[in-house]
Amino acid sequence: QVPGLTKRFSQGILERLESGEVVIGDGSFLITLEKRGYVKAGRWTPEAVVEHPNAVRQLHMEFLRAGSNVMQTFTFSASEDNMESKWEDINAAACDLAREVAGKGDALVAGGICQTSVYQHHKDEARIKKIFRLQLEVFARKNVDFVIAEYFEHAEEAVWAVEVLKEAGKPVAATMCIGPEGDMHDVTPGECAVKLVMAGASIVGVNCRFGPRISLKTMKLMKEGLQAAGLKAHLMVQSLGFHTPDCGKGGFVDLPEYPFGLEPRVATRWDIQKYAREAYDLGVRYIGGCCGFEPYHIRAIAEELAPERGFLPPASEKHGNWGCGLDMHTKPWIRARARREHWENLLPASGRPFCPSLSKPDA
Ligand SMILES: [Zn+2]
Repeated sequence: QVPGLTKRFSQGILERLESGEVVIGDGSFLITLEKRGYVKAGRWTPEAVVEHPNAVRQLHMEFLRAGSNVMQTFTFSASEDNMESKWEDINAAACDLAREVAGKGDALVAGGICQTSVYQHHKDEARIKKIFRLQLEVFARKNVDFVIAEYFEHAEEAVWAVEVLKEAGKPVAATMCIGPEGDMHDVTPGECAVKLVMAGASIVGVNCRFGPRISLKTMKLMKEGLQAAGLKAHLMVQSLGFHTPDCGKGGFVDLPEYPFGLEPRVATRWDIQKYAREAYDLGVRYIGGCCGFEPYHIRAIAEELAPERGFLPPASEKHGNWGCGLDMHTKPWIRARARREHWENLLPASGRPFCPSLSKPDA
């Protein structure tokens, strides 16, 4: 804890949002821990919580230090359909890790579930709801503060997830991994948002699959859909940390660079400041990230919105606003970069003279 830099919270997620506070989410786990050697791409399951708890703990710590107000349990795909008998231990251990770190900064713990691997095959509502319920029972036992249904590409399955999550009596957030074209059955973002709120979600939005710009475009459509239906909900956005202007309906997974060659697309911290500002101006108050969204991106959200929030995260001790730390540099041309105009207007070169700037999605 750094006196003066952090603010201690004691309220739940809905109290915070209802009082107009900005809640900063966390960022990338699977994609980041794959790069660090703890997750295998393909099945993307989080067994690292039991195999390498220190690696998961460290990443939670970095997000907390960067300003995250929510520690999401690392339970993506940790469901019975993906992990057989190991799923229960992994969910329990992920809750303990998230709670341990959250307690060091008074952050909230959110239990997270995602779309199943089986919906696309049989759409068996009872069977799929049972898969969600098993994870929820662990979250309830571990007393998480709220629950998130994330990464759904089918509105119907997302609605089932919300209906199950409501059973625990905790606030429910629901985000879909869709772009402006809507879900896999052409349900528009506005219609998706309405369905999720009608099913009982208090917070709705998008996560993953698309970069900051497209995610905000989708959020705008969700907001308009809710307004047209006369519904009220808190808005949440957790975009990729990668730029995806060339994506089709399926998002970044259809790009030939996914998942091992995405580095040239990484957003800068300045891109993320812009994202945070635009999300805020749109009325989104739960702002975080998904794949590729590193702790320094989370810090960028906290720094951009520091005037509104009135405080900075601990990690800002090591980061001058708009590069001002560079004014200590010995070389005058580098010192000259210690200003907002430089970073705000920079068009970063890729350093790859033979590369195209856009790709063609496979699907
Ligand atoms: Zn993601």
